Amino acid sequence: METIYDHLNSINDNLDNNIYLQALNSAKSGIIITDNRQPDNPIIYCNKSFEEITGYLHNEIIGHNCRFLQAQDRTQPEREMIKDAVKNGKECHLEIRNYRKNGTLFWNELIISPVRNKEGEVTHFIGVQNDITDRKKAENELREEKASAEKKILERTKELHDNEAFLSSIIQTVRESLLVLDSDYKVLSANTHFLNSFKVTPEDTVGKILFELGNHQWDIEPLKELLTKILPTNNPVIDFEVEHDFPYIGRKIMLVNAYRVEFEGQYKDRILIAIEDITEKKEIDRRKDDFLSIASHELKTPLTTIKGFVQLLKRMAPEEASDKFLTTLDKVSVNVERLNNLISELLDTSKIQSGNIEIHNEPFKIDTLIRDTVENLSLATDYKINISSNTNATIFGDELQISQVINNLISNAIKYSPGSDKIDVYCNRVGHFVKVSVTDYGMGISPQDQSKIFERFFRARDIQKKFPGMGIGLYICHEIIAKHNGTLWVESEIGAGSTFNFTLPIIKENRNGR
Ligand code: ADP
Repeated sequence: METIYDHLNSINDNLDNNIYLQALNSAKSGIIITDNRQPDNPIIYCNKSFEEITGYLHNEIIGHNCRFLQAQDRTQPEREMIKDAVKNGKECHLEIRNYRKNGTLFWNELIISPVRNKEGEVTHFIGVQNDITDRKKAENELREEKASAEKKILERTKELHDNEAFLSSIIQTVRESLLVLDSDYKVLSANTHFLNSFKVTPEDTVGKILFELGNHQWDIEPLKELLTKILPTNNPVIDFEVEHDFPYIGRKIMLVNAYRVEFEGQYKDRILIAIEDITEKKEIDRRKDDFLSIASHELKTPLTTIKGFVQLLKRMAPEEASDKFLTTLDKVSVNVERLNNLISELLDTSKIQSGNIEIHNEPFKIDTLIRDTVENLSLATDYKINISSNTNATIFGDELQISQVINNLISNAIKYSPGSDKIDVYCNRVGHFVKVSVTDYGMGISPQDQSKIFERFFRARDIQKKFPGMGIGLYICHEIIAKHNGTLWVESEIGAGSTFNFTLPIIKENRNGR
């Protein structure tokens, strides 16, 4: 049987024209044969691809040991593996950095196989090499990309952890109780403020159904109704006031806000509940209201007496009384009246607060009321107050109170439009209502303030020092109009002026025969 050794010999014999040679030359891999019997194991054959891969010419290759491919890069561990394979006549398969004739690096996937003669002696080695530089480059790039992606993931994870820690420290420090529930109202987390305020431990709370917490102390019917009926419709619960007597901490008034939080994926349908304890604030408000009510009552009584005495003094003034005496008396009278109005406003406010405002409803003509009120006001101002009011509508309401509203709106229009000289008062029918509008061309009101001016004691910051007032006139107007089933609102632009509008339902014409 012919051995590989015989084959090689025949290749050697007919190196130029042998069919094997053609086969070797058409291989894509670089192939060399070294003669192990000669000193330094020289290359005795190389194919065309070997020349192409290395850039060396045939005559620069034959006779050399393969190590010239390593140039100066001699510390690679793969070199030892080759040495070992050659020394022990073993096969080896490895990837090594080699250098072309022009000095450029290429990655060589090298397979070295020993060739033995009949006696088992290693006479030759066959080396097959593939240029895997592109693959190595792609592998390297992939490795670098992976490393950079991993680095980014690590950084991002750290950032997320930091953010989470940051958020959780905020949640733990806010002075508001916060609860997160799952869609079955089971508590997933409760912040420190909640635990401290309601005197419960995390063990008593987390994992329990809200309504069963602390022996069902949170089983509060209006709250349950809101959370189970309103929230699922995707509407948040905003500033809902709940009053409840808790077993350990007593009666509490709470402002509850609840939102459904939907995060993609894992956080599906969670409920965030924020509970603000407004018990103390309510108590302070109550005391303030009590104080206002008592103070205005106490002030009103002596003032009424003073008013009476001033009127008496006016009547009793002797014929020969000096002008100075009479004008002084007039001034006293005007200021007593101003004081009286201020105290009346305060009294009205506390009456509204306690729900004790009385309405004496009677049918009246709105056009006449507007004209009379404006006429009265015109006596004390240089402003031209234009009226357009021909509705012939009859209102069923408290004429005095509606007059007070018109009076207040026009007085404000005059007060807050220095530099202007006219006010327009319109009254029109709109459906079954009349709409009364008071327009000034003064300073106007900013959009932020527009939402607050009907609150008690609110005054726009920039005018506080320039104009006197207590910030309760509009609050009273708003309440009066609401009691008459109408609405009061404002349209305004800073620097251009304001229009205060209110509506009142018109009485059915056939009811009182007018
Ligand atoms: P007061 O006039 O005593 O401050 P009001 O309740 O009547 O109290 O008005 C509340 C606030 O609304 C005022 O302080 C002022 O800032 C603003 N305001 C009311 N009317 C006007 C107006 N016509 N133009 C501009 N600002 C106004």
